[in-house]
Amino acid sequence: MTTANTGIAQTTAGAASSPRVRERLVERLIDAGIGDARVLEVMARVPRHLFVDEALASHAYEDAALPIGHGQTISQPYMVARMTQALLQSGCCATVLEIGTGSGFQTAVLASLVRRVYSVERVSALWQRAEQRLRELRYRNVRLRYGDGALGWPEYAPFDGILITAAADGVPRLLAEQLAPGGRMVLPLDRGKGQVLVRLTRTNFGYRHELLEPVTFVPLLGGIA
Ligand code: SAH
Repeated sequence: MTTANTGIAQTTAGAASSPRVRERLVERLIDAGIGDARVLEVMARVPRHLFVDEALASHAYEDAALPIGHGQTISQPYMVARMTQALLQSGCCATVLEIGTGSGFQTAVLASLVRRVYSVERVSALWQRAEQRLRELRYRNVRLRYGDGALGWPEYAPFDGILITAAADGVPRLLAEQLAPGGRMVLPLDRGKGQVLVRLTRTNFGYRHELLEPVTFVPLLGGIA
């Protein structure tokens, strides 16, 4: 009985992660406006079905956010691709700080494209699970930390890029300060009447803001859990 069940589970996961299913996701991302070939290649390669519960694996290559427990979600593939593309456009970044590790999927996507990724998560159970997952998948250029991401990670600052995967009311000041000159931050900002994705670039004179598009993210919360 046990063997039969395992067999069925594997078949389901196998079909759910087949090359055809991943190709279809990439086609959907292209239709939605993702044009960066490196980002598309990585979106097809990183095994998203291993970043969600087994029960949800058959939905892993649909373009949807999925629950990962603790009231949090793994971001929608389009949003992961969009934020990664916005961050890496025109040659940025060797080092990236991510706030909100969650499942670790966005971390793995970034780690496939840049030299080193630092990621901070405030929910202990999610941090531990992501740590184990990324280790098993052999992402060696990743360092994870359990803590309040609004404080950044001063020991490794400055960063060429910072990516925040939860929405704040304003740009967290300590994070802006940990951005290298010429570096950029991509983050959802809650402006009361809805959230918008923003790209912030640190210039010699201050920070330049670009509004990218309306988005929906879970809130950036204070402290740890
Ligand atoms: N990139 C993740 C997104 C997870 S959702 C993924 O695709 O799986 C956003 C995450 O941000 C949640 O895991 C939440 O716990 C975390 N988060 C919220 N506020 C935070 C804070 N102040 N510091 C660190 N992580 C935070």
